[in-house]
Amino acid sequence: VLRVRGVHKSFDGTAVLSGIDLDIASHQVVVAIGASGSGKSTLLKTINLLERVDDGQIFLKGDDITDPRVNVDSVRSRIGVVFQQFNLFPHLSVIDNVTLASRKVHGVARDEAEAEAERWLDRIGLRAKLKDYPDRLSGGQQQRVAIVRAILSKPELLLLDEITSALDPLLVGEVLDLVRDLKTAGATILMTTHEMSFARSAADHVVFLHQGVILEQGAPDAFFGAPTAPETREYLSRLH
Ligand code: ATP
Ligand code: MG
Repeated sequence: VLRVRGVHKSFDGTAVLSGIDLDIASHQVVVAIGASGSGKSTLLKTINLLERVDDGQIFLKGDDITDPRVNVDSVRSRIGVVFQQFNLFPHLSVIDNVTLASRKVHGVARDEAEAEAERWLDRIGLRAKLKDYPDRLSGGQQQRVAIVRAILSKPELLLLDEITSALDPLLVGEVLDLVRDLKTAGATILMTTHEMSFARSAADHVVFLHQGVILEQGAPDAFFGAPTAPETREYLSRLH
């Protein structure tokens, strides 16, 4: 689904991504970890075209989305994104938040969009809140609504950037459980997180970013069980 090749990105002469290569196959969950400032969010932003690469290419289902002639809106309509916070429109109800993109961008009829949205909201236990505004929801509920909104557009790839970092620890589990449900439903996901137990149990592949390069990567059991690079070991030991 996604192929990243030799991606470089600098800000004001400082290299943030220094030659990233990454492949994500259909239905895979890839988790990117690494210290603050290692370039995780920047990588996700280059994929969503929020940042332009300085060098290298990114292919989405074979299409070079880093080609300057590409239609940015049409690329973004193929990718779902959820950030750490402030994902929902505060002036729209839950049901309008989750159906807006599928109706306006993908042309799904209102009845159909709402019926599918209600099924998902039911599944996450929020059907009773579909007329509520986001400020009436807990942080964990807001994030689950944001995730439902992202998947209703049937994205080819879902980017999740620290979606539980702003949450009360008690609310983290319910959001990560929904990510597991998406995986079961066949979504293709690239996410960043500091939740290592989740990465270990839910990821198909883990990549460790260090100073803008992928220093080490692998299947979660091998990666967490026997990290080889000293930087990886140090990072993981600091978390416990
Ligand atoms: P965190 O775990 O804290 O979210 P991260 O791995 O996501 O960290 P990035 O947000 O990708 O890190 O930032 C990598 C580096 O790039 C940082 O040093 C940051 O200050 C810098 N940076 C990111 N965006 C910009 C920008 N728009 N302008 C200038 N510098 C930036
Ligand atoms: Mg970040």
